[in-house]
Amino acid sequence: MLPNFAYNRPKNLAEAVRQLASPEARAHAGGTDLIGCLRDRVFEASTLVSLSGVPELRGIRRGLDGGLVIGAMTTLAEVASNSDIVERYPTLAQGAAAAASPQLRNQGTLGGNICQRPRCWYFRGDFHCAHKGGEKCFAVEGENQYHCLFGGDVCFIVHPSDTASPLVALEAVVRIAGPDGARSVPAEKFFILPSTDYTRENVLKTGEVVTEIVLPAQTRGTRGTYRKVRARGSWDFALAGAALVATVADGNVESARIVLSGVAPAPWRVPEAERHLVGKRINLRSAQGAAAAAVKGAQPLTNNAYKVELLRGTVEEAVLALA
Ligand SMILES: Cc1cc2nc3c(=O)[nH]c(=O)nc-3n(C[C@H](O)[C@H](O)[C@H](O)COP(=O)(O)OP(=O)(O)OC[C@H]3O[C@@H](n4cnc5c(N)ncnc54)[C@H](O)[C@@H]3O)c2cc1C
Repeated sequence: MLPNFAYNRPKNLAEAVRQLASPEARAHAGGTDLIGCLRDRVFEASTLVSLSGVPELRGIRRGLDGGLVIGAMTTLAEVASNSDIVERYPTLAQGAAAAASPQLRNQGTLGGNICQRPRCWYFRGDFHCAHKGGEKCFAVEGENQYHCLFGGDVCFIVHPSDTASPLVALEAVVRIAGPDGARSVPAEKFFILPSTDYTRENVLKTGEVVTEIVLPAQTRGTRGTYRKVRARGSWDFALAGAALVATVADGNVESARIVLSGVAPAPWRVPEAERHLVGKRINLRSAQGAAAAAVKGAQPLTNNAYKVELLRGTVEEAVLALA
């Protein structure tokens, strides 16, 4: 059953930030993750602050450098279908299209998608696990088939978002507003690992909200893709995923960013795999080399070694999709 809470609907960003300054308050975007967390007592909130009436968080517009600025309240369905995003930033459009189900994409927002809480069943269940501030990660000796291969430390969650890795691959910037004013953080630094703080997934402080996502202008010859593998054909979270952005000139890769999803507590960049592609043509050989480099350093738990091969195949297919 849902606990009781007050529900406020501020009309502008300044008012929303003021209301969110209390540690008992939570931002409510589409509610597709938040309401489940409250119902299952993953965390508590005495006040929900709806972002739906805040005009500053809406819309998609061209940035000054020719890039794109996407309001945090833009739905995943809009991100997946907006023609500018589909044509110029296919990695993000494909990530948004791969998330959840049509109903959830109509309701869920980009801001909510990158701020959603992890799906680990111990964190979501009645366990006082490390991610809730407890002493241990129950996944280490428990049911860990969906947990991480990289970056685990005290806590072994995977980041659940299908738009987070594309944003890191695209070198997006997250704009934030809060009690101390506005700030901008590169998406690569927005998401954090358990070694930084094992109870949080990002750098947001109490009272801060994501206002916009800024996508930089793309250089000529930039291509991108997002590939996700899940346990079944319909909606499900990624078992393994790869976001790729590469610049190709005269058939050769000039630069590449490869960011994994579903295998680490935060979007996981694989620089060695990126370096492997640079200077090469995209073909089966270079794709297999990049995929082998991407899985180097994977540290499977007792039940998730299958993810290593899955990831290797996912990266190989994603690289070949750029050809
Ligand atoms: C059955 C199911 C399947 C799913 N499958 C997938 C999947 O395959 N891939 C995937 O990526 N996601 C998946 N999801 C998650 C879904 O995409 C998210 O629930 C959704 O994107 C969250 O957006 P929202 O607007 O509803 O956020 P809310 O539920 O309103 O908020 C989520 C969290 O983010 C915070 N928040 C929201 N907006 C902001 C903001 N602007 N600034 C700061 N904090 C904010 C809230 O306080 C809350 O803690 C699934 C969800 C369900 C229920």
